Amino acid sequence: MIGGGPAGLTFARVLHRHDHPVTVFERDPAPDARPPGGTLDLHENLGQRALGKAGLLAEFQALSRPEGQAMRILDTDGTVLRDWKPRPDDRANPEIDRGQLRDLLLGPLDVQWGRKVTEVVPVTRDGVLVNFADGRQETFDLVVGADGAWSRVRPAVSSATPQYTGVTLVETSLDDVDTRHPGLARLIGDGSMAVYGVNRALVAQRNSGGHVKVYAQFRAPLDWHTHLDGLDLADAEAVRSSVPALFDGWAAPVLDLLRRGTAFVRRPLHVLPVSHTWAHVPGVTLLGDAAHLMPPLGVGANLAMVDGAELAESVAGPGDLDEGVRAFEEQMWARAGRWAKITAAGLERLVSPDPAQALALFDEVQPS
Ligand SMILES: Cc1cc2nc3c(=O)[nH]c(=O)nc-3n(C[C@H](O)[C@H](O)[C@H](O)COP(=O)(O)OP(=O)(O)OC[C@H]3O[C@@H](n4cnc5c(N)ncnc54)[C@H](O)[C@@H]3O)c2cc1C
Repeated sequence: MIGGGPAGLTFARVLHRHDHPVTVFERDPAPDARPPGGTLDLHENLGQRALGKAGLLAEFQALSRPEGQAMRILDTDGTVLRDWKPRPDDRANPEIDRGQLRDLLLGPLDVQWGRKVTEVVPVTRDGVLVNFADGRQETFDLVVGADGAWSRVRPAVSSATPQYTGVTLVETSLDDVDTRHPGLARLIGDGSMAVYGVNRALVAQRNSGGHVKVYAQFRAPLDWHTHLDGLDLADAEAVRSSVPALFDGWAAPVLDLLRRGTAFVRRPLHVLPVSHTWAHVPGVTLLGDAAHLMPPLGVGANLAMVDGAELAESVAGPGDLDEGVRAFEEQMWARAGRWAKITAAGLERLVSPDPAQALALFDEVQPS
């Protein structure tokens, strides 16, 4: 297994439950080597189903935040347009911090940290050859690429590469929001808050412990920042004054979400082609973003986890290993193709010349 994200760890954890040996090779030198990223909502019929297959649903329910499902939409002048709150017993899409999910999945797994894969060569006489950045080589009967958007395993089965969608996110964070920024804490509410303007959006999401992730989203060329007097994204002060200018005229409290941000990270959104498939290659397959990178509309990690759980169940049985992988791939391609279309259309409406499209999409997904 290459990659210790949601796909790889779910695959390994379900296999472990079936008493199958599996080794995860992960590029990061340690579980907490980099910030784990924002909160994830795990859907009842996707991520939660996968956790059920790993025997971890009860632990997830204890850790997750059902109140985090709350969603508020503001107009650019700060008027509240929608203020949706879950019922107390609603467990359809509770939120969990990525770090908590990672630790939950890690449990007893054998993860080799700091093992970056550089290349996978299928069908050698001894099996599938994996080259590591540290110069080592190993062979396996099955190599599963769950190494994310810029997968090093993918070239072994497919020539597809991620393409830029035309939408960039600039991500920042607020800490201890309830004590340090009580006004912003009230603005955000218990879950997420979004504001949609012309070709722009601003989304703030609560994580646990008063941590908030803020995503400024806008249509722009890939190199937009180089046109802003060579804006250095590592210079938080410069970003703090430049990025709010892209949201000119928006209400001051909304822009404060950016002005109070700590560090800033640029995340241009790339996607793989909708309905990405490949001619089956014995001994190698892909899961999660490596197989079907799509816009971040709340399903990528969910699909990655279902992929992991289903592949594990497919290969854990007594049947032929390669047949198990083939059957899984057909199932994954069909599911991912459906979601890739939905999320591509969703991104067009959420970061759109007509902000009413975003509100209409919310009303379709979350009728009050
Ligand atoms: C801003 C944002 C918000 C999102 N919000 C949501 C959400 O709310 N809900 C949701 O379901 N999805 C969400 N997503 C999508 C989600 O993050 C991804 O779909 C999900 O993380 C994919 O999981 P994965 O395991 O396939 O890949 P990843 O999470 O990318 O994990 C890949 C792992 O492989 C490792 N790796 C990479 N290269 C190598 C290598 N060469 N050798 C060894 N290891 C390697 C990486 O270090 C990493 O640990 C969001 C995405 C973004 C960008």
